[in-house]
Amino acid sequence: MTTASVPTSTGGATAASKSSPRPLRTVVRRPSSDASRFHMSTKAVDRSVAYYLKLSDLQCVKHLANIRWGSFTQVTCPHCNSSSAHYWSAIELRWKCKGCGKRFSVTSKTVFAGHRITLQQLLAALHLWVCGSAGQPALELRRMLNLGSYNTAFTLCSKLREAMLRGRNVGLISGVVEMDGAHASGRRASLKRGKPLTFRVTGEDAAQKDALLTTSARQKQRRDEKAAALAAGGILHPEHGNVFPKDRRVLFSARTRSGVRGRGALVTRVAIGLAETPDAVQALADAYVAIPESILATDTGSAFSKLGKQFQVHLQVNHSEALVGPNGEHSNQAESFNARQDRAEYGVYRNIEPKQLHDYACEMAFREDHRRMAPGAAADRALWYALSVGPSHYWRGYTHGKHRSYEILITGNQPAAASGPAKGRSPISMVNGRPPR
Ligand SMILES: [Zn+2]
Repeated sequence: MTTASVPTSTGGATAASKSSPRPLRTVVRRPSSDASRFHMSTKAVDRSVAYYLKLSDLQCVKHLANIRWGSFTQVTCPHCNSSSAHYWSAIELRWKCKGCGKRFSVTSKTVFAGHRITLQQLLAALHLWVCGSAGQPALELRRMLNLGSYNTAFTLCSKLREAMLRGRNVGLISGVVEMDGAHASGRRASLKRGKPLTFRVTGEDAAQKDALLTTSARQKQRRDEKAAALAAGGILHPEHGNVFPKDRRVLFSARTRSGVRGRGALVTRVAIGLAETPDAVQALADAYVAIPESILATDTGSAFSKLGKQFQVHLQVNHSEALVGPNGEHSNQAESFNARQDRAEYGVYRNIEPKQLHDYACEMAFREDHRRMAPGAAADRALWYALSVGPSHYWRGYTHGKHRSYEILITGNQPAAASGPAKGRSPISMVNGRPPR
């Protein structure tokens, strides 16, 4: 065997290797997915934050007006709903209605009404908000745009979530609809703080403890655990008898498949329930799915068996055996949404309160459905939702202590108290910036 003397760039030496020749490098080529091809392409980007920050005030108003009304000249008065070429004041940057005579700006009677930040900051914040794939932390947004307070950034993000909740998570979807329920929330930092994750007995102690526990003792232990969990405010699953932690919720998603291979799902609807029960999935389907004409695809969860009979076909995949059934049945698009929500909860937002879980799920539905859209186009779409749902119901007056008093659930809302310290300026006199003890 002859070993060829190959000059190397590192050493420059031409000494022949005495060892066996270097094996040919095997090139591993993975077929790139449709999604990765999009994200690597030039279509994946269009505008940057700098684009918005360079706009003049008038250009910002024109941009917003074109998205809100489709025109800068023919606009609709939000007070009396009359569409006309209302009087424009270039000094005030707002219109005077030809009908009712009231004045209005481009953000009047929208979730952005009464905004304190500049329109450039607002548009830049929106751009950054759509750029995150699993959410945009409000603290990070504040740092990037030098916003005055955390509440400014937080309420802005929350108002965008509300726009998705009230403007986007509505209407029926049809076609091949995948439905799934996933456990979410229930990981409150205040409950975990200062406690070990699990109590582990190792070594000989474990064997001893195991030997001591007879079957009846185990059963008693489980009964006691269940009673303790219920006493702590846990939720009893009406069908299976499981007890879930008090803050645990089931996040339901319904997604329409695109029907094009590699293109995933088109539209997502989300809802929150206390448990995956037949009643909850029925309420979800009644609210969001065109029932008789659609095809339902789920896993083999028992909650879906009764619901499935109302559809043309019910495709079920047994997830304990495979991700895709023998005839191609799967609910992988619903699982894909669950994965994004998980990444948002574990990686970005950390502790989503059950009360706000629906809002965050609606945000994730928007992100999931606009994953193949360049940020500028997606920001325009998000802006359209934000400008078309009217004033904020949930976040107007938030910093002054006005909080939503209920939790949105598919089986009927339930009261939920505001958490954390009271917001807004305390009526008690402040001593050195702190309330007196
Ligand atoms: Zn008017």
